[in-house]
Amino acid sequence: MALTGLDIYKLLPKTNCKKCGRPTCLAFAMQLAQKKASLSDCPDASDEAKKVLGAAAAPPIKLVTVGSGVKKVSVGEENVLFRHEEKFYHPTGVAVTITDNLDDAAFSDRLKKINNLKISRVGTEIEIDLVAIINKSNDAGRFAEAAKKVSTGSHLSIILSSSSVDCMKAALANCADKRPLIHGANAQNCDAMAALAKEKNCPIAVTAVTLEEFADLAEKVKKAGVDEIILDVSGSNPKEVLQKLTKVRRAALKKNFRTIGFPMITFVCDEDPYQEISLATTYLLKYAGIVAVNTCEPWAIMPLLTARTNIFTDPQKPIQVESKLYAIGDVKEDSPVLFTTNFSLTYYTVEGEVESSRIPAYILSVDTGGTSVLTAYSGDKLNDKVVAKAMTDAKVDTKVKHKKLIIPGLVAVMSGKLQETLGWEILVGPREASGLPSYLKTVWRP
Ligand code: SF4
Repeated sequence: MALTGLDIYKLLPKTNCKKCGRPTCLAFAMQLAQKKASLSDCPDASDEAKKVLGAAAAPPIKLVTVGSGVKKVSVGEENVLFRHEEKFYHPTGVAVTITDNLDDAAFSDRLKKINNLKISRVGTEIEIDLVAIINKSNDAGRFAEAAKKVSTGSHLSIILSSSSVDCMKAALANCADKRPLIHGANAQNCDAMAALAKEKNCPIAVTAVTLEEFADLAEKVKKAGVDEIILDVSGSNPKEVLQKLTKVRRAALKKNFRTIGFPMITFVCDEDPYQEISLATTYLLKYAGIVAVNTCEPWAIMPLLTARTNIFTDPQKPIQVESKLYAIGDVKEDSPVLFTTNFSLTYYTVEGEVESSRIPAYILSVDTGGTSVLTAYSGDKLNDKVVAKAMTDAKVDTKVKHKKLIIPGLVAVMSGKLQETLGWEILVGPREASGLPSYLKTVWRP
């Protein structure tokens, strides 16, 4: 459990010497408790304080990194059970499986499909993170060959899944430089798998049934010198999986039970892809570090990636686009000019509708702190002066020869004042972005 300011204060020298830049030791302790200061700021802190506070400051859930280079996936190090309490920091890694018993053509087709699982969402490209190679053949040669193909033919990080130490050894020989996750350590093979993980400097996933068994296995692996551990809580009963995911997270955060303070992985396998993705999404929300699915259909992966994008944003900060003038299509001097706010969802909705109208246009994204049109207007973040400033900053008058500005129908009430401030003719657009294509085609005239 996190130490309070008072607990920390008891460990400080209590001389109020101010060397840390704070007026008193108590003020420093309070800031340390809120993670707004570092113990290294106090030059007189005793060794005991360093030891106790250092241990308390360690994250309750260990950060584990799978892979290397730009596509490496870091999971764990979360501080809260609920996103609104702070935020979630390390997005769940999404993995898609491939089995080593496929023939060459089928393997390469599936890998190609997996590599292309990326979508554009609110202006950001999002994609899956890992390929999980399943040793279904139980043949070391085939598993090693599959590892080689994925290592050389995919930009994604790798999970090697096998309970056979020989097969794992053979596969690692072909992809250890990619720092794959060694998945398949259990009570029987734990020592040998941990030795491989130590030798190759790879993270390891352990499989068990009860939390006590997880604790025992994690301790064994740690003793072998490997501390990047992931707990595999997969199972065929969704209720049990969800319970395990929640129990481990709660134990680590609320009971400070560091022995199982590790991120978790779940493999979701259901013949019905709808069911598979809805389960995977549930586990992603609570509290899987990695979810692995069998389906590699883009329509199935899309909602999973979208849910991840939504849950791993900061709830205190609306997602924003850059405030500037955007040219949509082959704009000319007589192209229409519209404005909207810099709230991503609003901006991209407007952009999508303008694109679908096939009429090139300028969209001015006005800085309203990432709030939507009505919210910004009610909070006085969107008024004639704010729009006028955005128009000047973006030099809109140098881009078009007309002086007509289309404003969102929801803020039609702004039109009079805006016309006065800008000296432009104000055209009131539709209330909903969906009305833009028809508006631009039938109403707009330069
Ligand atoms: S430097 Fe250390 S001893 Fe001095 S006021 Fe800060 S916390 Fe207290």
